[in-house]
Amino acid sequence: MRCLLFLFLLVFGADAAGAQQMLHRRVLLMGSRFDLTVVAANDIAGNAYLDMAIGEIARIERLISSWDPNSQTSAINANAGIAPVRVDRELMELIERSIALSELTDGAFDISYASMDNIWKFDGSMVRMPAPEVVKKSVEKVGYKKIILDTKKQTVFLSQKGMKIGFGAIGKGYAADKAKELLMANGAVAGIINASGDMNTWGKQPDGSDWMVAITNPMNKNKAFAELPLRQGAVVTSGDYERFVEFDKVRYAHIINPQTGYPATGIISVTVFAPSAELADALATSVFVMGKEVGIDRIDQLPQVACIIIDDQGAVHKSKHIRINEK
Ligand code: AMP
Ligand code: MG
Repeated sequence: MRCLLFLFLLVFGADAAGAQQMLHRRVLLMGSRFDLTVVAANDIAGNAYLDMAIGEIARIERLISSWDPNSQTSAINANAGIAPVRVDRELMELIERSIALSELTDGAFDISYASMDNIWKFDGSMVRMPAPEVVKKSVEKVGYKKIILDTKKQTVFLSQKGMKIGFGAIGKGYAADKAKELLMANGAVAGIINASGDMNTWGKQPDGSDWMVAITNPMNKNKAFAELPLRQGAVVTSGDYERFVEFDKVRYAHIINPQTGYPATGIISVTVFAPSAELADALATSVFVMGKEVGIDRIDQLPQVACIIIDDQGAVHKSKHIRINEK
C-alpha cells in the first residue's frame, strides 16, 4: 500500500441494463500500480480504451525511466559532465517544466535530487544514518541550475560528473495526464486514471453522478473524514507508508530536501488538488520538503490549487482554498 493518507474512489451504479459500461483494469507500470477505469458504450470499446491508456503509459515509461538503461533519461545521466544528449521534444519539455517547478518551489522540487539515491535507501536495508560528510558531499551534485538545456539543438546536459535526474516525483502524474488526454481525444466520455494515488478523472459515472474521492486520516483509516466530488481535476497524495527510515525515533520520508541532503521529516502525507496530475504530483512532493507552514503558504498563492497535510502527530492542516465537507 502506497499512501498513508488513503484515497479511494467510491463508485456507484455501474452496469444498469442498456446503459454505458464501466470497465476497470489494474496493471503494473512505472514500478507502480495503475488502476484504470473507463466508461464506454460496450465492452469492446471499453477494452480498446484501456489498451490505449496502457500503451501510452508504457511509452512514457520507456522515455523517462531512469531505471531503464535504454531510455533517453539514462543516456542523459550516463553523459553527465561529458556531453549534451539530444532528446525528444516531449522529454525536453518535461525537463523544462520540471525546472520551472523548481523555481516555483525555491528548489524544494528538483529532478536532480537523484544522485542522492545512492546514500538513502528506503527499502529496509539501511541500518544507520549516513555520515554528515557523506550527506554534505552528495548535495554538491544536486541543483536544477546545473541542468543545461539547448532548446534549438534540443539537447540536455548535466554539467557535473555524477549528476543524475529522475522523475519519481512527477512522472506518474505526467503519465496520468497524458493517458487521460489521449482517451478524451479518442472519444472516451469518462474515466479515472489512478496511478497509485495520483488520480485524474473526467466526465461522470454512468448514472450521471460525479466521481467521488474519500479521504481518510492515516491515523484512523477506517473512517473517511472527508468526501468530495472530483470533476475535471486531479488529486495526488505523496506519503508512502512503507518507504521511510527511522533513526532515534525520527521518521525520515523517502523525499529528500535537495538543499540539505536529508530526507523530509514532520509530515506523513500531503494531498494536492490541482488542474493537472503533473502539477499536483510535483507540488505534493514539494510540500513535504517545504514543511507545513511554508508549504501551505505557497499553495495558497496558486490559483485552483489546494492541499491537505497530515503531520506526524496525526493533525490535519488545510490550505485556504480547500472546500471539503468534513464528516
Ligand atoms: P512522490 O511519491 O511523488 O512524492 O515522489 C517521491 C519520489 O520522488 C522519491 O521516491 C524520489 O524518487 C523522488 N524525489 C525525492 N525527493 C525529491 C525532490 N526533492 N524533488 C524531486 N523528486 C524527489
Ligand atoms: Mg510527487
